Amino acid sequence: MADAMPAMAHEGDDLRRKQREYLFPNLATLYEEPLVIVRGEGKYVWDDQGRQYLDAFGGILTVSLGHCHPEVTERVARQLRTLQHVSTLYVTEPQVRLAERLAGLAPGALKRSFFTNSGTEANETALVVARAHTGCDDVIVLRHSYHGRSMLTMTLGGTHGYRAATPVPGVHHLASPYCYRCPFGLTYPSCDLRCAKDVEELIQTATSGRVAAFVAEPIQGVGGFITPPPEYFKEVVSIVRRYGGLFVCDEVQTGWGRTGTYLWGIQHWGVEPDIMTSAKGMANGLPIGWTITTDDIAQSFRHSTISTFGGNPVSATAALAVIDVILEEGLADNAARVGRFLMDGLKALQEKYPCMGDVRGMGLMIGVELVHGGKRPAPDLLNRWLEATRKRGLLIGKGGLHGNVARIAPHLNVTRSDAEIMLRIMDEAMAEVQPYMEV
Ligand code: PMP
Repeated sequence: MADAMPAMAHEGDDLRRKQREYLFPNLATLYEEPLVIVRGEGKYVWDDQGRQYLDAFGGILTVSLGHCHPEVTERVARQLRTLQHVSTLYVTEPQVRLAERLAGLAPGALKRSFFTNSGTEANETALVVARAHTGCDDVIVLRHSYHGRSMLTMTLGGTHGYRAATPVPGVHHLASPYCYRCPFGLTYPSCDLRCAKDVEELIQTATSGRVAAFVAEPIQGVGGFITPPPEYFKEVVSIVRRYGGLFVCDEVQTGWGRTGTYLWGIQHWGVEPDIMTSAKGMANGLPIGWTITTDDIAQSFRHSTISTFGGNPVSATAALAVIDVILEEGLADNAARVGRFLMDGLKALQEKYPCMGDVRGMGLMIGVELVHGGKRPAPDLLNRWLEATRKRGLLIGKGGLHGNVARIAPHLNVTRSDAEIMLRIMDEAMAEVQPYMEV
């Protein structure tokens, strides 16, 4: 793999040093010594030392089809030679074809799309529309959520480390459906979905009595793959709708077959959003953000609508290629199948290692919450697990309020034998970590 090394080892050290010097100081990293990645192909990436890693985090659930997927690369290269940019002031074929395609794939009556460059902008757009449509500013959002890094979406965030210093008014945080650490100290199903029902009291006590929207991720991603019980969304959304609110579903992490079987995470809960957003896995790593809503609601977006880079022909072409491959290769079903195998394997490891407090998720979106005795969050154990898996050639991710949840989310075309390798490495690495668990 000599040609797999555009940066030599000593250049890696230089890059790390210059990153510390020239980029914002608080850029999140996963490892004590940040990994310098120089190349990716399919399920693997290579670092500056020429070491190969099986990627089970996919650039934070973004590289849906694996690195430099040939179909995406070919179509994007052709588009790069044809037309790269003109802005949304002009009609371009990739943007229109993509919008048409998505109208056919999105749930229910969702039909009209607006494209931007990131999940942040997609959510910002969704809330501008929801507030305009309802004539109301109050928004309900879940604790432990993550929706972006603009002032509004940072305010939406339910984890202090990502919040804005001065919050945007009108945002109210509801307890999260976090069964492993139930905010009410209850147990599902005897809890009778107290966390969902509590939205009514929140609306009655903290808002004007009407709400613009309830915003939620089907599975809370950055929050640590917190997965609500089956009846959760029906319950909470029906209450919110009684108070005039729209359901804004953030599918930035859960879209594109990630949760298995369906294209959209929310389909597992049987609820149709009024506005849906996505980004990440949509274009296999090219920047794109997407907001879709109904014909009726879209009419509320009255001010002049423009995005310089939004819907650019290159990212839109990549998204069309991703959709084709996901559908042609049945990757949502693959995510369900291989995801179940991984989940079963991790549940078996949980029997062996008490520090694996909770194993949860759906499809290829699996969280492992690491704890000390008495369920105390164990970010130190997760850091050890990250280092021990990296050392053995496997990349996994991190999340959760306390940074103690491993996020395992490989490419959608991962095979069962890849999953076997992942499980073997996670097992060996965990054997190294478990002795550090405090009782
Ligand atoms: N929503 C969710 C659920 C996310 O996970 C993220 C990114 N982690 C965002 C929104 C923001 O997306 P971006 O980083 O593309 O702005």
